[in-house]
Amino acid sequence: MKRSLRYLILFLFLLGIFVPALPSVTAKAEIRLNQSTKSIYVGKYGKLRIVDTETAAGDSYTVTWSSSDRDIVKVSQKGTIKGIAAGTATVTATLKHVPPSDPDVTSDSWHTMVLTCTVTVKPRFYTKDTYTTKTLNVSGDTWTWIPFYFLGAANEKDLDLFCQISDESMIPGGSGTYVSWKWGDWYGKYKNCRRLYLKGKAEGEIRVNVRNSVTNEVINLKATVHAPEEKVTSEKVSFNTNWTYAGNSKIHSGTSTLYHAAPASSKGITVCINAGHGTSGGTSYQTLCHPDGSPKIVSGSTSAGSTYATAIAVGRTFSNGTPERDATLSLALLLKDRLLNAGYDVLMIRETDDVQLDNIARTLMANNYADCHIALHYDSTKSDKGAFFLSVPNVASYRNMEPVKSHWQEHNALGRAVISGMQDSGIKIFGNGEMPMDLTQTSYSTVPSIDLEVGDGGSDISKAAQTKLADGILAGIRNYYP
Ligand SMILES: [Zn+2]
Repeated sequence: MKRSLRYLILFLFLLGIFVPALPSVTAKAEIRLNQSTKSIYVGKYGKLRIVDTETAAGDSYTVTWSSSDRDIVKVSQKGTIKGIAAGTATVTATLKHVPPSDPDVTSDSWHTMVLTCTVTVKPRFYTKDTYTTKTLNVSGDTWTWIPFYFLGAANEKDLDLFCQISDESMIPGGSGTYVSWKWGDWYGKYKNCRRLYLKGKAEGEIRVNVRNSVTNEVINLKATVHAPEEKVTSEKVSFNTNWTYAGNSKIHSGTSTLYHAAPASSKGITVCINAGHGTSGGTSYQTLCHPDGSPKIVSGSTSAGSTYATAIAVGRTFSNGTPERDATLSLALLLKDRLLNAGYDVLMIRETDDVQLDNIARTLMANNYADCHIALHYDSTKSDKGAFFLSVPNVASYRNMEPVKSHWQEHNALGRAVISGMQDSGIKIFGNGEMPMDLTQTSYSTVPSIDLEVGDGGSDISKAAQTKLADGILAGIRNYYP
């Protein structure tokens, strides 16, 4: 027995030396929270628990629960969490060891133990980002809507939405200074979406604050009420056989388009852009050069002395095969856009290859629908000589013939204003920019009217070159009608 006892003492002694106590870090690793991350919805509850697998050790400790942001998540001293508002916060359980129940775990590291869980609180009540982050445009005539979603069936509780428009009202629907509003019904598979309908009344910015009665979550939006978008409008216009000189036209079944600039920028001035040529069959007819039947006094494409001229010519052809009517049309279309942007209304004599309107008809369209008339042409030479306009010849008999008598000065003034604008825009000008000519157009014009030769058969007719021309012509028109 004695011997056995000695062995036992030796055994215990060796045990004491060679089998050390478990380090405190091991004990610490055995205590944790049941979740290190957790998601809950606003207004909903969750539970965090301390998992302690080291039951045999019989540790004794106190626990204090806390939240890094009580406006986002609250936690009770039993680990029950509640979502307050959308966001992320850290819930912390602080454990303090109660000594000295276990001498093995009294080290400093286990004197206080901090366990954390990252809690994400998701909104139950929300709208889509496109509505919360962008300005809402409200049109004047129709209702537009903003959807609001509630997680879980909306009718699970008597959910009410309270809407406040700026400072005006909190009633369920109504009409304020800037908007009218009303609620739609709950809808969707889970009856969890409801739309707020808005209709603009006056320009301004409003705030929309919507609060739901269950979670007290509030959604703040801004809506801007704009005036109805102003747009260019257009109408087809036709030749009227009752017009003065109408009986002298032979081809006038075609229609033109009158474009109205956006009202806000409109100058109330209509510029007729007449893309030269482009009337098939135009050479089959002859029309009187002058309204009174008197003979031409200056030779052009029709000789001096003639009383009749071709109703409308085919025009020249460029060396690459482009007919003049195509080049004048592409320039006319560039000019139209610029004029409308600048606030001028525009009468486009033609916007296609062919319009059944001869030179007299085109002139009378401009007389009756426009404030001035600019016909676009490329001259028949091939020297790239530059731009010029055909001015009213200084011949007494011609300048004394109506309607030339009453209008020749404004024709020349318009021409000089346009050439000046083109020159200022860096466009090559031929000579002094004018060439006297007895034209059918100016012989019948009762508004400022020019035949503008923007170049000739040697000119660059690329889009870039025509864009520069259009800018120059616009600058010239602005000289005449600031
Ligand atoms: Zn021409």
